[in-house]
Amino acid sequence: MGINVPEDFLGMASEFLNCRVGRTPFKYLGLPVGANPRKLSTWEPMLNVIKGRLCAWGNKYVSLGGRIVLINAVMNAIPIFYLSYMKMPLKVWRELVKLQRVFLWAGLSKQTKTCWVKWDVICKPKKEGGLGVRDLRLVNISLLAKWRWKLLTTECEVWKEVVGARYGRDVIGKVNLGDIDVTRTGSCWWRDLCLLDSDVRWFSSAVGKRVGRGDSTMFWNEIWIGDQPLRQRFPRLFGMSTQQNEVICNMGSLVNGLWHWELQWRRNFFTWEEDQYNHFLDIIVQFAPTVQQDRWLWLGDGVQGYTANSAYSLVVNKLVTPSVCDPINDLVFKILWKCGAPSKVSAFSWQLMLDRLQTKDNLMKRRIIQAHHGNCVFCNLAQESASHLFLHCDRVAKVWYDLMRWLGLTVILPHNIVSSLAILVTCANNKKERAGLCLIWNAYMWVIWTVRNVCVFNNGVFMEEEVADQVKLESWKWFIGRVAKGPCMLYEWRWSPLDCLMR
Ligand SMILES: [Zn+2]
Repeated sequence: MGINVPEDFLGMASEFLNCRVGRTPFKYLGLPVGANPRKLSTWEPMLNVIKGRLCAWGNKYVSLGGRIVLINAVMNAIPIFYLSYMKMPLKVWRELVKLQRVFLWAGLSKQTKTCWVKWDVICKPKKEGGLGVRDLRLVNISLLAKWRWKLLTTECEVWKEVVGARYGRDVIGKVNLGDIDVTRTGSCWWRDLCLLDSDVRWFSSAVGKRVGRGDSTMFWNEIWIGDQPLRQRFPRLFGMSTQQNEVICNMGSLVNGLWHWELQWRRNFFTWEEDQYNHFLDIIVQFAPTVQQDRWLWLGDGVQGYTANSAYSLVVNKLVTPSVCDPINDLVFKILWKCGAPSKVSAFSWQLMLDRLQTKDNLMKRRIIQAHHGNCVFCNLAQESASHLFLHCDRVAKVWYDLMRWLGLTVILPHNIVSSLAILVTCANNKKERAGLCLIWNAYMWVIWTVRNVCVFNNGVFMEEEVADQVKLESWKWFIGRVAKGPCMLYEWRWSPLDCLMR
């Protein structure tokens, strides 16, 4: 490949060396080198891999719960290689989300399905009511941060030499790169890297210094003692300092092997400033220089060095506005995925709690069915909504009370779905009981929904005792299959589920 050489020389050289002339972009280790990351075409191979993988799964039936796992484990892992090298343009992200969204709701069937829950919600952690799918934009940013981290470390690497030669030696070891570090002719890759944290400067809070000699750490402006720069912690003192841009080793000296600070101030302190000044001295008095070089530290998870996980949680913390905390939601979503119900059931319950199930009122809102088809299939007296269908319908309420008697609990009919789980789990005396009651709650909701579907689509009939019995049977199956440590017979479970849970 020729760089800054005329075409005819290149021809001669290739003939002499007996090799072919290369052109950018070319592929190296599966990544396009020299390609423009802003172009959709650069990303197409990756999108094709994902589409190919989806086809390879063929027409296998995978439940919603299983599809959630596949999205997290497989679909989100394929682009990682690309995302650790190039900044993904918005249109590629949209394309990726579209593939994931369609797969989540429709599986591989070709028919289009309604997307019942917003993608933002799906990307939230499970305990906040989402599905814990990682947001690939943030994954991208956190992976690229690795390059920034590597620029701070002292290891010699060829690429750093190249970057240093091209953009100036001072970009190596510099924590805040920004507009000024990008020349007009800078490559897309470098520009993206420099502007990676331009909006909130999250990267500089991810790293700190371990001071050795103190010859490359700014006393006021860098994090080297505590968790923020001294300038931020003591703004008044900073304003009075005449050494605002000094490195540590220039602000004191060793006297008989002991470090001695030589701080200079514009004026003497007022009495009311002395407390703060003494506090400041208490903090910096701990410092003792060593013979080693100053080193950068990754503060992410207390371990030395960058990890993709710690970078991701940091980026999420800094860039995503936290959802409003609701104690009841916190409680139910935290336990929902951990109670031992099969994943398809947990996924169903998740949808139910967000009121995004295909109940008739929801279908009417989305104009999928008409109003006169909207009545409850069990009583035909009221419109079918989630709270009616699962709790307030007279016939279903009988099942609820029947089960409460079985559990030995007195729980009046809850107001809505979320509180029905919350009330039930707060009746528990310990962790095991809580998980068990959540499991039974899942069985109750799942069985009602299954029976409802049989009634709607196959002219089934609703028999209160049978349904209650079915709930006991299902929950027992899940319990012995997934939770129980020892044997537990069905008749024992029927007799006293709480005793079985405590074994
Ligand atoms: Zn009803």
